[in-house]
Amino acid sequence: MDAIKKVDILGVPVDRIDMEGALARVKELLDTEGLSAIYTPNSEMVVSAVKDKEFMDILRSGDLVVPDGIGVVYASRIYGHPLPERVAGFDLMVGMLEMLGREGRSIYLLGGKPGIAEKAADNISRRFPGLKVKGTWHGYFKEGEVPGIVEHINSSGAEVLFVALGSPKQEKWIHSNRDRLRVRIAMGVGGSFDVLAGEAVRAPAFFRKIGLEWFYRLVTQPWRAARMLSLPVFVIKVLADSRRRGKK
Ligand code: UDP
Repeated sequence: MDAIKKVDILGVPVDRIDMEGALARVKELLDTEGLSAIYTPNSEMVVSAVKDKEFMDILRSGDLVVPDGIGVVYASRIYGHPLPERVAGFDLMVGMLEMLGREGRSIYLLGGKPGIAEKAADNISRRFPGLKVKGTWHGYFKEGEVPGIVEHINSSGAEVLFVALGSPKQEKWIHSNRDRLRVRIAMGVGGSFDVLAGEAVRAPAFFRKIGLEWFYRLVTQPWRAARMLSLPVFVIKVLADSRRRGKK
């Protein structure tokens, strides 16, 4: 692999690391002063960032940005700076829980429908006994409740905050509160709490391995089809952008 550490996908710089490298980076961030943000873009998020400057700036400010979607990995190949592998947000979260549990660290879960974060917390505590789940809050709150939620997170003393509000809501929430939050790491994790709570299932390993998790989700959750229409837009934009850059 060439020495370039990040590959720019339509303006979003994505770290060129695999799962092992991402976890090593998380360890470093845990021991770094201030809040570090982890974002996990897929092609749909990149397309929405192209149309939404605020979201683009937020993704660009991430301290660790890994490719949640296989589309982003393919795009990196088109640019000639291949990403080593897909680092799915859910898998990174589980890898982090394992590592944090081994180190006796603490987490807070914010997001999901009422009851989901608690259920996920129970399952996480059982599966990773060393881990301290310091608190939870559901994700259907009003703007006026935010100061109280931030206070609840801060007074819990949790080191890592997982935010599951869907995208781009979770990234915007992390960004707008990053100066007030006293956690070391905040990460946007989409629908991960639903899976950890046992309310939703991921695609079987076979589909994930061959890069077709998106196809499995399309067939099993057809209401996502409209959102997935951004995939062809993404491919066309990447091809045009790589040609334009090649000509410079
Ligand atoms: N969610 C939430 N508050 C909201 C909107 C969504 O807590 O105002 C939660 C929702 O319950 C679900 C997650 O955010 O658990 C979004 O899941 P999805 O799979 O749609 O995530 P995405 O694919 O957008 O990252």
